[in-house]
Amino acid sequence: MIIDFHTHCYPDKIASRAIDAVGPLGLDCSFDGTISGLCASMKTAGIDLALNLPLVTSPDNTRGVNAWAAKNNSAPVFSLGSIHPDDPDPAKTLAWIKSLGLKGIKMHPEYQSFSFDETRLEPIWEACIEQGLFLLTHAGEDIAFKPPPKSNPASLAAFHRRFPDLTLVLAHMGSWGLWDEVERHLIGLPLYLDMSFVPGLVDDALLVKLIRRHGSERVLFGTDAPWRDQSESLKKVGELGLTDDEYANITCNNAAALLKLN
Ligand SMILES: [Zn+2]
Repeated sequence: MIIDFHTHCYPDKIASRAIDAVGPLGLDCSFDGTISGLCASMKTAGIDLALNLPLVTSPDNTRGVNAWAAKNNSAPVFSLGSIHPDDPDPAKTLAWIKSLGLKGIKMHPEYQSFSFDETRLEPIWEACIEQGLFLLTHAGEDIAFKPPPKSNPASLAAFHRRFPDLTLVLAHMGSWGLWDEVERHLIGLPLYLDMSFVPGLVDDALLVKLIRRHGSERVLFGTDAPWRDQSESLKKVGELGLTDDEYANITCNNAAALLKLN
């Protein structure tokens, strides 16, 4: 069983707009941004399950995004929920998200304009802990935004220390490209790193070193499809020379536990 923990799908009506928006960034899309497109890509790649990561970009679309997520949260494509930093009542919103059957939320410091040291977000983190929802966040630079990024390995480690009970998943192995800082601040902490956008773009030996130092029980296979190709990413991970246990943890066991799959 192979699980891709980091994918992006959009409602059919707006998928082509979402895909066109990243065209200027020079990314080749591996599918059309729809759930059916993702399912076809998964079939080709030999990926059994995937997690979609929708994002609330304005408090006004909280209801719509999470209702759509809940409606599209069954095998082979599961979904996270999302909340906006300016949500007027995070405790209520996150209790509702939990009641929809969603297991965690996605947030993005760049698209949602926040940083992890802001006290205004504390009610969100406290409610996530209260509801047992995990947080998957973009980490480090995003190619669509000018640096400096709103999060980095040091700020993410400080955030983890302030909210150690929050189950945290950091995308892009903790911060794309900042590997020395990832090693210094994040490697070995009890938080998850997802591999999205990393396989094939980072030296294999470096990636294996990061995985082994952090521990394969806290690393998740993810692709960032459609912005990366699922077949290529999975093939790359298969070529890293991981042990069977490491490979099973990364591509299946850790994801299944976070999503509470049997
Ligand atoms: Zn992504």
